[in-house]
Amino acid sequence: MTLREKVAYIKGFIKGGGINEENLGQIIELIVDALDEVASAINRLEETQLDLEEYVESIDDDLASLEKDLLGEEREPGFGDDFEEVECPHCGEMFLVPVEDFLSGEEVRCPACGKAVVPGEGDRANGDGK
Ligand SMILES: [Zn+2]
Repeated sequence: MTLREKVAYIKGFIKGGGINEENLGQIIELIVDALDEVASAINRLEETQLDLEEYVESIDDDLASLEKDLLGEEREPGFGDDFEEVECPHCGEMFLVPVEDFLSGEEVRCPACGKAVVPGEGDRANGDGK
């Protein structure tokens, strides 16, 4: 009998004969039996939940270390965190631009000659790299 069936049985039992001194003991026995099943069902749920919590935590840890690995390899520590060095293709001046501008390829003005410079383009044009 499932728990639901047991409860239905108890309900039917009470509905059919009412509660009296004669059947009270039997009714309590049935109720306690059902309660016992409720308790073990909750127990199973708790165990399952603990397993799930542990599992989710381990996934979270894996994700965190994966994230660290991925980002750690892309970023170079120290210089270049926020600025990138650019060489002006017109006058050869070296100057810094914010890394966002560098990555977006937006034009900046050379502080020495005032001409437009597209960050990263000069490096590619004269081919000497860094
Ligand atoms: Zn310049």
